[in-house]
Amino acid sequence: MIDYKGNPYFDLFSKQKENQYNVAQSTYSQRVKKLSALQHAIEFTYRKQIKEALHKDLKRPIVESDLVAVYLVIKEIKHAKANLHRWLKKQKVKTDVVLFGTKSWVKYEPKGVCLIISPWNYPINLTFSPLVAAIAAGNTVIIKPSEISSHCSNLMSTIIKDLFQENEIVLVQGDVKVAQNLLKLPFNHIFFTGSIPVGKIVMKAAAKHLTSVTLELGGKSPVIIDASVDIKLAAKMVVWLKHFNCGQTCIAPDYVFIQEKILESFIVHYKFYLNKFYGSNALNSESYGRIINEKHFNRLKSYLNDAKTHDAEFVIKGEIIEEERFIGPTVISNLKLESLLMQEEIFGPILPVKIYTNKEEVIEYLKDKDKPLALYVYSKSKSFTNHIVNNTRAGTTCINVNGIQFSNHRLPFGGSNSSGIGKAHGFYSFKAFSNERAVLKRYVAGPISLLFPPYTKLKEKI
Ligand code: NAD
Repeated sequence: MIDYKGNPYFDLFSKQKENQYNVAQSTYSQRVKKLSALQHAIEFTYRKQIKEALHKDLKRPIVESDLVAVYLVIKEIKHAKANLHRWLKKQKVKTDVVLFGTKSWVKYEPKGVCLIISPWNYPINLTFSPLVAAIAAGNTVIIKPSEISSHCSNLMSTIIKDLFQENEIVLVQGDVKVAQNLLKLPFNHIFFTGSIPVGKIVMKAAAKHLTSVTLELGGKSPVIIDASVDIKLAAKMVVWLKHFNCGQTCIAPDYVFIQEKILESFIVHYKFYLNKFYGSNALNSESYGRIINEKHFNRLKSYLNDAKTHDAEFVIKGEIIEEERFIGPTVISNLKLESLLMQEEIFGPILPVKIYTNKEEVIEYLKDKDKPLALYVYSKSKSFTNHIVNNTRAGTTCINVNGIQFSNHRLPFGGSNSSGIGKAHGFYSFKAFSNERAVLKRYVAGPISLLFPPYTKLKEKI
């Protein structure tokens, strides 16, 4: 028997454990009311503060904040409210003839006391989106946001205190130590969004209690560009997502595979859209963010220094300004595969470009790699696209576009193996926070009596 008494979060956990059945018994209308309160807080009461906090933490442009932290979370809430009645209903399933006299259904019941751990790159969205599903499914929740995006964490703490009692939903702030203490407790579900190494730590801690996990992780998401492509479209889309939030996006294009014949044209168009989106110097653009902190800034600088020792050709060399944590758009070709930029998740505005002659080279390369969170294909050829999709593995894929798979709440969002376990958004998040309880009810006597001993010769024949 583990003694949790010394754990600073045991009291909070116990309060939620005691209250979990009250919360679980909340009706559809009560849950919708809670979701509406959260919606109102994000859409009206705290909308301005959300954008200010994101600007302080990430110098996030207002339009990007409104899109991801407000619009997409509101969309998630509206989707849950519109569908919750259906999700909470008995999900009837067919019954075999041999089970004549019974009825079967699936009941989605709350998992219980849940933990949400979120990262700094989209702090509001990646905390509140899973929370929406946890509320819809009828759980109690302890939230541990990132200590790095501290303005957003402070604000979310205020919002949560404003809307909920701590025996139902509470947000605790702090660094790794806080997360480590929380992870010692026997939660019923952990929803973690963050890096692969920390995902492994979370899974190991969860295994101790056989706690179920959703792990929304990262990795290297490739873009594969075929010679038949609409090159302007491909360049425009990659420039957009590679620099959205300054490249600090889990589904950002990490590197590009491009057919050798069109490399030059891609670079010409890439430069054109950089200039169109951010002007001749991104430093002066209100639409261009900054690297979150010194640690990540130095990490990216070390990748660039390492690239120089690996034959890198700087096709576009971005300016680096330490005091501002500014890294300008950078494109590098000819990188050796053992370079850090080709090994680690980049998470910044640096794009390695790798040429290929034949599509089989791409497939062979990817076969050896971890399954990415996103894989993007640009081509006008259906057979090329099908070939790539059928011969690679990824959590999500877009064809002739990138990034917007995240915004369709009817699609499961998440990785596969190293890029994540379990899925999020819409019904998939609701499912993650629910136990699919199998229920079978006998209402008339059926062939079930044939199961009882004595096992006569007649029963053997049947
Ligand atoms: P991170 O793993 O460093 O931190 C995430 C959270 O875990 C934070 O709250 C942090 O306090 C906590 N944490 C850190 N170290 C810990 C430890 N040793 N034990 C327990 N908890 C710990 O990730 P990050 O730097 O905040 O975010 C960037 C990463 O997240 C990238 O890899 C990115 O791809 C990934 N990500 C994935 C998604 C997705 O939806 N799949 C979304 C955003 C970011």
